[in-house]
Amino acid sequence: MIAEKMKPYLKNNSAIRMMFEEGKRLAAEYGPENVFDFSLGNPNVPAPEQLKEVIREILEEEDPVYVHGYMSNAGFEEVRRAIADNLNQRFGTHFTEKNLIMTVGAGSALNVCLKTLVNPGEEVVVFAPYFLEYGSYVRNYDGVLVEVAPDMESFQLNLKDFAAKLSDKTKAVIINNPHNPTGVVYSEKTIRALAAVLEEKQKEYGHAIYLLSDEPYRELAFDGAKVPFVTHYYANTMVIYSYSKSLSLPGERLGYVVIPDEVEDSEDTIAAATIANRISGCVNAPSLIQLAVARCVDAQVDLDFYDRNRRTLYEGLTKLGFTCVRPEGAFYLWLKSPVPSEKEFVDAARKYNILMVPGSSFACPGYVRLAYCVSYEKITRSLPQFAKLAAEYSL
Ligand code: PLP
Repeated sequence: MIAEKMKPYLKNNSAIRMMFEEGKRLAAEYGPENVFDFSLGNPNVPAPEQLKEVIREILEEEDPVYVHGYMSNAGFEEVRRAIADNLNQRFGTHFTEKNLIMTVGAGSALNVCLKTLVNPGEEVVVFAPYFLEYGSYVRNYDGVLVEVAPDMESFQLNLKDFAAKLSDKTKAVIINNPHNPTGVVYSEKTIRALAAVLEEKQKEYGHAIYLLSDEPYRELAFDGAKVPFVTHYYANTMVIYSYSKSLSLPGERLGYVVIPDEVEDSEDTIAAATIANRISGCVNAPSLIQLAVARCVDAQVDLDFYDRNRRTLYEGLTKLGFTCVRPEGAFYLWLKSPVPSEKEFVDAARKYNILMVPGSSFACPGYVRLAYCVSYEKITRSLPQFAKLAAEYSL
């Protein structure tokens, strides 16, 4: 008999994953070119060419015992140094290899942070809409998830409700910038205001409140949008990163956590997080891809590809009469359902082989998410289908 804690997961298996399966089924029935699957954030842009080259180099030039062996649980020291130097150069920070722990993607990095920080019953605050796995991750450590209501106008952080939701049990707060699912980028003004609330509440409750800044889309920002580097604004910040989206490597499972020296009890926190990485069963992040990424720290996927998709989809859908949040980052478009039940709208779209994720999968009903990390042709071919959908609602 499976554990009680796992039973709810069997019932509520991720709607996004189910949609992905539905996409595969429709593709088999109608042909992949006639299915418009905007459900999963699986990048369509290939990883940079340079990555292939450095992987070849590493395999040909380096000792296989080094390339494929165990290393420090925090990851190769030289890899962490290369990434720390790169961050320092770009963001004016002062990290060393000691401040970084390489992880199995951002998912694992978040688990490492929560395992390091959260005692049973302590609260972790998230802002709706949010990546629903946050709830599962918090429950892994018997923490309590506390949701902040969305700001339905701007989809920036609703700091009024945030202040009201903090309590003496709050241990950590998770933000995600650029944002999944809304495509919003939190401005410097928003981050400063968030930091001010946190500072005040830390004083009031007399203990640290940690800010976990989940940034797998950090480089995916458009129209000159600047993604603030949060450690500059709030000392008790841990930065979570992933190469899944920025380098199109989701299957390789590589990310990291930055724990700056300014974090309270930083030495113990870094030591505990390194152990958390080990005892979660990950032991260390995959070795070959660590070495490869360190050799091309400045590599980037083709941002113009996403930008063209973003503009074409946003302009196409708004012209059809849909209301969308103008996306500035990540590769998601957040569209307002023309009827109160967005699930009904998602079902209606399926008739035209359009797959979207209901906002309730991100704790924010009334909207739907479209992941535009698909081919450009998919975007252009989907617009006539969206026109039929718009006609159904007399837009
Ligand atoms: N955080 C957010 C906001 C995400 O959207 C995702 C993946 O979609 C993750 C974390 C997990 O990323 P990874 O593949 O690096 O585990």
